[in-house]
Parts: sequence; C-alpha cells; structure tokens
Amino acid sequence: MVSQPCLFNILRVANVKVTTEGCGIIDFVGPLTFPEARETVIRKVREARHLPPVEGVELASAAARVLAEDVAADRDSPALARSVRDGFAVRASDLPGELAIIGEVRAGRRFSGEVGHGQAVEIMTGAPIPAGADAVVMVEHVTRHDGRIRFDGTVQPRQFINPRACEASAGETVLHSGKRLDYADIAMLAAFGCPRVKVFRVPEVAILATGDEIVEVQETPAEFQVRNSNAYSLAAQVARAGGVPRLLPVARDNLAHTRALLEEGFRADLLLLSGGVSAGKYDVVEEALAALDAEFYFNRVLIQPGQPLVFGRAREKFFFGLPGNPSSTMVTFEIFARAALEILGGQEEVELHTPFARLTRDFRHRAGLTRFLPARLSADGQSVTPVNWHGSGDIPSLTRANAYLVAEPDRAEYPCGEWIRVLHK
Ligand code: AMP
Ligand code: MG
Repeated sequence: MVSQPCLFNILRVANVKVTTEGCGIIDFVGPLTFPEARETVIRKVREARHLPPVEGVELASAAARVLAEDVAADRDSPALARSVRDGFAVRASDLPGELAIIGEVRAGRRFSGEVGHGQAVEIMTGAPIPAGADAVVMVEHVTRHDGRIRFDGTVQPRQFINPRACEASAGETVLHSGKRLDYADIAMLAAFGCPRVKVFRVPEVAILATGDEIVEVQETPAEFQVRNSNAYSLAAQVARAGGVPRLLPVARDNLAHTRALLEEGFRADLLLLSGGVSAGKYDVVEEALAALDAEFYFNRVLIQPGQPLVFGRAREKFFFGLPGNPSSTMVTFEIFARAALEILGGQEEVELHTPFARLTRDFRHRAGLTRFLPARLSADGQSVTPVNWHGSGDIPSLTRANAYLVAEPDRAEYPCGEWIRVLHK
C-alpha cells in the first residue's frame, strides 16, 4: 500500500469532501465546528457500538460502573404509609383542638389499634401511620399535658405522611441499563435487595504518546526534550471516565515505529494518540493510520486549544489523534474522547454540562473558534475568572484552574459581569 503524506496536508487546507483510494478513506475533510465534531463522535460511536460483555459484581464495588440490566423495585417504596416527622398521628379534621394520646408507634413496629375521633398516637419518623390517622403534627408544634396534646393550628390531610408506593411501586423499573451508578443508585439497589448487579466490562484504552522530543518521566530530559506528561494525564482522565488505561511506549516520529505501536494500540477498545497530528514535517500519525486503512471522520475542529484533532476508525476500533500540547490533549479528551469512551462502556447519556457563570473581568478573544480556557469558578458556581496562562503548553496554569471558560466562536467581547459558559475541569 502506498501512503500519501502530502495528500493529507493538502486536504486539510483544501476543505473539500474527498474519498481517497488505496490509502484510507477521508470521508469528511472540512474543519468542523465544536458542536458538529461532538455530534459526529457521538453518532459514529453509537452507530458502531457493540455493547461490552456483561459481568456480575458485588454491590459494594458497583459504584461508577455502568449497569447492564434493567432493575425493578421488589416492593412498594415505602411499603406502608410512613411518617416523615417525629410527632403525633391524628385525624386532620379534629384540629385545631385537644386530643387524647392513646399509644405510641416507633420505626420498626406497627400500631395495632386505630386512631379514633379526638385521639392521637405518638409517632416517630419512619414509623407506619396507624389506621384511622390521616396526618402527622410535629412534636415541636404541640403542647403536651396529662396524656393529652393541644394544637391550635389547622392541619391538611396527608401532612408529613409519605403514602405507600409514592416513591416507587413493586415491579416498576427504577434503573435502566446504561446508567453509570452513582451513590444514590447504589442506595436504591440496596433498598430493593440487589446484593449483586450486572455491569458492563470496563473498556480498555490504549494511550500512545508520540514525539522524538518526549522522554519518560523518570528520565532527565535535555533542554530540548520534555517528559511524557500526556500519557499520564490521559490515563487519569480515562480512569475517571470509567476506562482502564494501558500505556504504550512513546512512538518516535517515523512511520515504521508509529505503525508498529498502532497495531498494538488497536488491540484495546479505544486508542488515544497524543501529538503528531499537526501539519509539521514529522507529524506522521495520520499517514501511519492511513496505511492501516483507517477511516477519518474529521481532522480539524474549530476549537482552541486543539484545532488539529483526528477522529476515525481502523481495525474496527475508534481512535483519536489528540494534539500534543498538554492542555490541547486534556481539553480534547474531555470534550470528545470522553463521550466516546463512555458510549463504548455502555453508558447511554453523555451530556457535557456547560452552565453559565458571570465573568469577574472583561474578556475578549478572537472570534471564529470555540475556546476552552483555564479558569477559576467560585465556590458558589456564580462567577468565573480566567487564569493567567501562557498557551497550550502551560501545565502549571492548568493546575490552578478548576474549570474552563467556553468562549463562543461568534462572540469576541465579553464585558465584566456578562454570562459565559463554563465546563468543570
Ligand atoms: P505535536 O502535537 O506533536 O506537534 O506536539 C506539540 C507539543 O506538545 C510538543 O512540542 C511538545 O512540547 C508537547 N508534547 C507532545 N507530546 C507530549 C507528551 N506526550 N507529553 C508532554 N508534552 C508533549
Ligand atoms: Mg510531535
């Protein structure tokens, strides 16, 4: 197979839809906007996805895993009408007035009698409502004297009562396959008697850093070299997004070495490359991928950081060629590769939350690109301040950020106090 390195560079500028023959297919070449690129990633991965194998896990280790079965409630929740306050179970129509206390009911017990006209039963939070009662008054709101209570207000029927099955009915599906389990889901699975659950196997993600200037973390780099930080930031991001990272050796900027490591990388469920996707003479990643008959869905996105960004498929596996500058690698993982990984892991919902916050100072950028710039979001999430940074290679600035400002491509000026979107880091 003949590889055609220059063709890729020509196509990148030419902005045309082209199918090349014999060296991998580029079926969309124009630069995509951020929403177009994200939509492409989600659509392509969803279309091609085979759900991962299913395994059973103990509930105690199921948090953050993706559920691989629908789960139904095994009983009504609550199974009986329950009090949500400490107080007295009463008949609402008896109040205001004075009532005789005829007994008590606590959580874990049932009251055998019935609350009649002019009567009350002392009740604790979580205890079943006795027959005859239709409301609860709080213990703090009554005066108690000589086996009687007095309450001078009016009471609405059902006050402080959780009716039977108001949360869920027996047999109702309460969790759907494809949900990543959070701690509330774990609580519900426990409440409905699921000591083990079926989850999808965690996808393996190969991480392949490229570059002649890259040395390993434990090495002492010469001044013209940098340590391989991308493989580690990506591994951390992959783990956080529910994947198992597998770090490959650094690929040198030549076709043979890159190609050999690509073969290795395509054994995983997803391949992430860093570096080697710009238009430089030694950026060989696309060429090496094309030589494996890769399909390319895009190779440029109108964002910063991260413009040269390659997404495609080869050997039935998806790959991302992420730009090598550390913040480009981190941002493009979060906004694109993360969604792909989550879908491959069986997760159904892959929303990217970008709420608004108010700028604490004027902000301007050059319109045309969606920008993701390091920022500090206040504790209340209301205001956001850009972090001083020195471009896409500035890792120390990124460590001071807890969010990214998301500046829209059609808007250059944002005055202090204006709303702007943010993405949590
Ligand atoms: P590239 O996208 O290959 O042109 O790389 C752009 C810049 O990103 C390089 O000059 C390096 O300084 C930096 N870089 C590339 N790969 C890595 C890596 N694995 N770890 C840290 N920095 C990197
Ligand atoms: Mg490079």
